[in-house]
Amino acid sequence: MTVTVSQLIQALEPSATMAMAAKAKELKAAGRTIYDLSLGEPDFATPEHICEAAVEAMRKGHTHYTAASGIPELKKAVVKQYHERYGLEYPAENVVISNGAKHAIHNVFACLLDPGDEMIIPAPYWVSYGELVKLTGAVPVIVNTPQSNGFKLTAEALRAAITPKSKALLLCSPSNPTGTLYSREELQALADVVLDTELVVVTDEIYDRLVYTDQPYASFPTVRPGLQELTVVVNGVSKTYAMTGWRIGWAIAPNKAFAKAMGDLQSQETSNPCSISQHAAIAAIQGPQDCVEKMRQEFDRRRRYVASRLASIPGLSCPEMEGAFYAFVNISQHLGKTYGGVRVDDDTQWCLELLGQKGVASVMGSAFGAPGCVRFSFATSLENLAAAMDAVQEFVNGAR
Ligand code: PMP
Ligand code: GLU
Repeated sequence: MTVTVSQLIQALEPSATMAMAAKAKELKAAGRTIYDLSLGEPDFATPEHICEAAVEAMRKGHTHYTAASGIPELKKAVVKQYHERYGLEYPAENVVISNGAKHAIHNVFACLLDPGDEMIIPAPYWVSYGELVKLTGAVPVIVNTPQSNGFKLTAEALRAAITPKSKALLLCSPSNPTGTLYSREELQALADVVLDTELVVVTDEIYDRLVYTDQPYASFPTVRPGLQELTVVVNGVSKTYAMTGWRIGWAIAPNKAFAKAMGDLQSQETSNPCSISQHAAIAAIQGPQDCVEKMRQEFDRRRRYVASRLASIPGLSCPEMEGAFYAFVNISQHLGKTYGGVRVDDDTQWCLELLGQKGVASVMGSAFGAPGCVRFSFATSLENLAAAMDAVQEFVNGAR
C-alpha cells in the first residue's frame, strides 16, 4: 500500500518562479557564481521603522490569534490608503487580510468560482493564476495577447473569449511577467465589455507603486462608474515595502457578503494572518512613504540599464517596461541554435543552458504561457545586473 496524491493536486504545476529560484540557490550553495534574475522579490531590507513596529507589537503582546479576516486597524489603513490614492470608498469590513497576496488570490477564486465556471486570463500570465483557478474545479481560459500590443488584452479579444460559462476576468497591471502597464483608456475599453456582460474582475494591483511612467496609475475600479460592485482588488505589502517574507496581502471585496465568505474560508484554513506581521503592515502603510520612492527610483535606474543592455543584443526584443521589475524578452530568433555544443530549441532549454553555462538564472516564458520568451527580474543590484547582462550577451554571441 502506498499513499497516493489526489488527482486535483497531481494536475497542479508547481510554481516555476519558485522552482527556478530554488535551482539558482542550490547552484550557489554548491559554490557556483550565480546571477539570480529569477525571482520577483525586492532585494532591499524591510525599512527599519517597519521592523521596529513588529518588535513593539511583540513586546505589547500582539502574539496571539487575531480575527480570522485580520485586525480592524489594518483593514482601516488599507481602505484609507485606497481612498487617498484612488478616491475609492470601501467600508473596512470589505477587506480580508491574508498570508500574502497569493493567498488572497486563492481565497478570492475559491469564493467566486464554481466547478465548470470559466475565468478569462490574458497570457502572458503570472504562474499562479491558472493553477489556483484549477484548484476550484473552474476552467482557466487563456487568451493570448501579442507583443506588438505590449502583451495587453484588447476589448475585441475579451469579447471573443466570453462564453455563457464566463464568470470572471483576471487583470494584472503593471504586469508580472511583462512589465507593461494598461493606460486608463485601455482599461476603459475592457471595462465597457465587463459592464455590458457583468463579468467579475479580479484586479491584481500588487505593483501599483512600482510605475515608471508619468501617467498616474489607473486602479481598475476607478475607470468607469459601476465597476466597484463587480471588482475584487488584490494588493499587499510584499513588493511596495520589500516585505515578501512577512506574508501580508489582502483582497478588497465588492460587498460585505463576499468579504465574509473569504473570512469564513480563512477561519477554517489558517485561523488568521500573522499577528506581528499585521502590525508591521500598519506601520508600512501609515508610516513615512519616502522609502517606497527611494526603492522605486533604484528599480527605475536598474530598469533603464537593463533596457539599454538588452537593446544592444541583436535578435532580442521586449516591450517597454513601464512597471514592476521584469524584462520579458522574446528570444525566439535565437532558438534552433547550438550553445556550447548543445542544441537549444525552446525557451526552457535556453533558460537552463543560460543557467548551466553562464550562471544566469531567469524564468522560461512557457511557464507564463508565452513560449519563445524569457523573464529577467531586475530586482537585484546594478552590479549583478551588469555581470548578468555581460553573460547573456556572451551566451547569445556564442550561439552557432
Ligand atoms: N501577484 C503577483 C502579480 C505577483 O507577482 C506576486 C509575487 N509574489 C503575488 C501576487 C504574490 O505576492 P505575495 O504573496 O508575496 O504577497
Ligand atoms: N511573484 C514573484 C515572481 O513572480 C515571486 C514568486 C512567486 O510568488 O511566484 O517571481
